Amino acid sequence: MRKSFIKILREENFVGAGVVKTNLWSIMVFLLVVVVGLFYMNESVRSDYGQVKQAADLQIRLLSLENSLIDQETGQRGYLLTRDTSFLEPFDRGNMEYQAIANDLMERLESYPEYQGKMQQLTDAGIKWKINYGDKQVHETMSGHQVTSEELRAGKQQFDSFRDQKAVLSKEFEQLRNQLRATMLRNIVITLIGIGSVFMIFQGIMLYFIQRGLHRITIPIVQLDKAMSSYANGSISAEMPAYSSANEIGRLIHTFKEMRQEMQKDQRLLGYTYQMINTLNQAKSVQHVYQETLMGIWNVIECERISIITQNADRSFTIKSSIYNGIIDHKEVALGGEQKDVHELLEGGFSMIHEDWNVYRPTGTITDYLHAQGIRSSMHIILRKEARVVGVLNLMSSEQDHFSIQQKNRVEKLAPMIVTAIENARETDKIQRLAMRDGLTGLWNRRHFDESMQQLMGRVITADAERHLLSLILLDVDHFKSFNDNWGHQEGDLVLKHLGRVLNDYCRPGDLTVRYGGEEFAVLLPDTSLNEARSVAERLRKLIELESPSRKYAVTASFGVAEWDGYQSAEQLIQAADEALYRAKDEGRNRVCCYNAESADRATEAG
Ligand code: GH3
Ligand code: MG
Ligand code: MG
Repeated sequence: MRKSFIKILREENFVGAGVVKTNLWSIMVFLLVVVVGLFYMNESVRSDYGQVKQAADLQIRLLSLENSLIDQETGQRGYLLTRDTSFLEPFDRGNMEYQAIANDLMERLESYPEYQGKMQQLTDAGIKWKINYGDKQVHETMSGHQVTSEELRAGKQQFDSFRDQKAVLSKEFEQLRNQLRATMLRNIVITLIGIGSVFMIFQGIMLYFIQRGLHRITIPIVQLDKAMSSYANGSISAEMPAYSSANEIGRLIHTFKEMRQEMQKDQRLLGYTYQMINTLNQAKSVQHVYQETLMGIWNVIECERISIITQNADRSFTIKSSIYNGIIDHKEVALGGEQKDVHELLEGGFSMIHEDWNVYRPTGTITDYLHAQGIRSSMHIILRKEARVVGVLNLMSSEQDHFSIQQKNRVEKLAPMIVTAIENARETDKIQRLAMRDGLTGLWNRRHFDESMQQLMGRVITADAERHLLSLILLDVDHFKSFNDNWGHQEGDLVLKHLGRVLNDYCRPGDLTVRYGGEEFAVLLPDTSLNEARSVAERLRKLIELESPSRKYAVTASFGVAEWDGYQSAEQLIQAADEALYRAKDEGRNRVCCYNAESADRATEAG
């Protein structure tokens, strides 16, 4: 009880603590006021009452003074009538008492000087009676004289005069007493009104503070209510009340603030997710899908590294792309010896989080390498097509316990969409590839050749780089018409297929091998000079001459080679190579001829 009381006064850890505190203070102040008031009232009433009592005492003493004179008079009368000295005893005693009471009264009247004169007169009247009549008549009687009735009457008169004066004074004392009593009552009323007023003032002050305290409670609740209503209407921009107390309302507002932050975060994530869905839907190639997937997840979940592993047609797995500190790397890493990593990842068949790589991590050369690079926790999201696992998304962080279940759930929800996007892009790639390839030889077709040439010619040349080299080889099978006639069209097709293979096997990956027309082929060689292209053509010519699909016959071809001058159009380049090819045919076939710009110019000039 005592403890909680002190707690209330010291801390503000619950709603209304301020109000309770104000109340407690006001009760204490009020008690102080009441105690001081009562003390004051007590003192003031006590003094007032003392005065009233004093006035009453004056009356009583006055009566005693009268009685003592009556005693004297009664004793004197008795002695005068009987001459019995025993009557002198009350006479003397009354006299002594009279003196004492008279002195006492005079003393008491020191604080009421206005009555002193009258009192003195009264005392004197009594003393006068005693000297002139009381004592005198007793002495006369003792000496044998007869006291006359006139003398007795005169004494009686003096006595009555004393009593009359006394009656007047007594009435005045009565009045004094009434007056004092009225003052006392008035003082009591004034004191009570004073205490009441102070109480009312404190009550007012207390009400003011309580009202202020209640405001401190209700205003944030009203603001909170407003904010919540606007959140309920979908707008989370409304501000939260600024309320910092560590009480229930403070905690409530704090919780709502956190909730709002979560909502804002979710909204942002939702935005990124929609963006990701949108870009994935528009992705033009599988590589593009990988890139958008990695970038999208990178935006949603902070971490150092994300990679995507997918299954190839032969069921092996390859790391297709990865993002490291925001930079995409499309270098494919086939998981040969490292299949162990993948199998360990896929073993359970469900997504998982490895909280601390120091305690447990999938084992394998790649994960060992990443661990050495400082990766300490990871999250692996399984990509499935129906029940089949088709890949894994790997998120890695250098912090332990970096990934949460919520994040895992979030990315898992995106997984089917990613898989679909990959599948769609693969389909599109396949269709596009088919549309670009020649059905018979598998080489690129004319359309793709045209597009590629435009692209290569449109490459941006940076200021300090040399111009891009580009050469073109055109080749045409010699006397193919008669070959067809001799060996049949089907055998002719076999020859064409064979030539396609030769071109494909011999040329570099960067070269574009094309079936240009019926029995005409082209090889587009980027970053290759005329001389280099010429030797490629020469080598191809020899290969074709030596390697025939059948011992029954030999096949030869003629070659025209041209180098792009950096300004020519695609048609002009093709025409140049075609001119050289024509010359090769003309000069006897099964040979390589190069286009010479100068001699052609001269020929044109000469022609
Ligand atoms: P040269 O080029 O040496 O001057 O003589 P050529 O007989 O090859 O003459 P040309 O290039 O004009 O003849 C083309 C022939 O190639 C015509 C056609 O019979 C044959 N040919 C074109 N396309 C195909 C094809 O797809 N399959 C087969 N089997 N033959 C084709
Ligand atoms: Mg031809
Ligand atoms: Mg031909």
